[in-house]
Amino acid sequence: IETKLPKVGTTIFSVMSQLALDHQAVNLGQGFPDFEPPQALRDALTRAMAEGRNQYAPGIGTAPLREQIALKTQRLYGRRVDAGTEITVTSGATEALFAAIAATVRAGEEVIVFDPAYDSYEPAIELQRARAVHIPLTLPDFAIDWQRVRDAITPRTRMILVNSPHNPSGAVLSADDLDTLAEITRDTDIVVLSDEVYEHIVYDGARHESVLRHPELAERSIAVSSFGKTYHCTGWKVGYAVAPAALSAEFRKVHQYLTFCTFHPAQTAFAEFLASDPAHYLELPDFYQAKRDRFRALLAPSRLKLLDVPGGYFQLVDYAAIRDEDDVAFSRWLVEQGGVAGIPLTPFYECPPGTRLLRLCFAKSDATMAAAAERLCRL
Ligand code: PMP
Ligand code: GLN
Repeated sequence: IETKLPKVGTTIFSVMSQLALDHQAVNLGQGFPDFEPPQALRDALTRAMAEGRNQYAPGIGTAPLREQIALKTQRLYGRRVDAGTEITVTSGATEALFAAIAATVRAGEEVIVFDPAYDSYEPAIELQRARAVHIPLTLPDFAIDWQRVRDAITPRTRMILVNSPHNPSGAVLSADDLDTLAEITRDTDIVVLSDEVYEHIVYDGARHESVLRHPELAERSIAVSSFGKTYHCTGWKVGYAVAPAALSAEFRKVHQYLTFCTFHPAQTAFAEFLASDPAHYLELPDFYQAKRDRFRALLAPSRLKLLDVPGGYFQLVDYAAIRDEDDVAFSRWLVEQGGVAGIPLTPFYECPPGTRLLRLCFAKSDATMAAAAERLCRL
């Protein structure tokens, strides 16, 4: 049959996880923790199933969970959102991103994305017969060149997709960045889709600048987050989208026919856990900063050059001193010969020629990090 997505193969995350298994490599590729979610959360999930939360949840998410998300949004970002009309629980951030794009972007319209960009964005755009307009982030700190954004806007621009903290670089947007984004989109009908799945993972005392904190941007944004990142349970696939009522209504039209609703027992468990332990996410920056710093110290004797990591749980490394080859070839060599799986950046964008960067995930136990570092320091 004629493919609708000619450029798409199997995602690099599946490919590298399989290669890691095949070669018994330490898996620092696909982004997931190798430690367990909080015990109280796991207990709450078991209890939810035992207590019979096993049929469809309300399509938009259970009321107690939406109320907890509203409380959190107010507490963290000072924004009052209506749990009834402005919050929708989804099957992971992946579903929320897809539904947001499908609900707002029409054939022939343009979506501005920043390169490197998370790999699920472009296929979702293409399936709407819309076009992704790629703007490279500027090195060394993967910043947005706002003049290029101004220059890229046309009457067809329907959406700007931002991601902070950024996967794969960890770059974070500043309050000034958001002011500029607000200024650029003022008096337009451009929707901002803000992928904030790493919202609670920012380092060195920095504050996450959510579009929900910005009164003007919040009026035209769909903010997406994921409980998988925050509560160490990527396999449960629960996320959510926050948007003004009119945008949420459009979003929900797609969501109801994409999945209808999200895994019910997990929603009950999250609602209970957020109510009983609201501080979990406040501890995440310190928790992951300790991991980041440990990982960097372990790699210091290696020949890898470590880029700065302001947020998220990925370390970008420059491997030019080890092998002079492109990142796909290097990541294959590393998993087969070096015993460590990482993620090349090519699937995220068309890398400038000569780019020698690999992404390593440090959401790992001390033992995993030590085993990986021992191998990486031998290269
Ligand atoms: N956006 C980004 C930037 C991500 O890194 C991820 C997953 N790692 C997702 C979206 C998808 O999140 P989920 O697993 O909740 O679907
Ligand atoms: N978002 C995760 C990452 O960047 C992977 C999620 C997935 O495998 N779909 O590694």
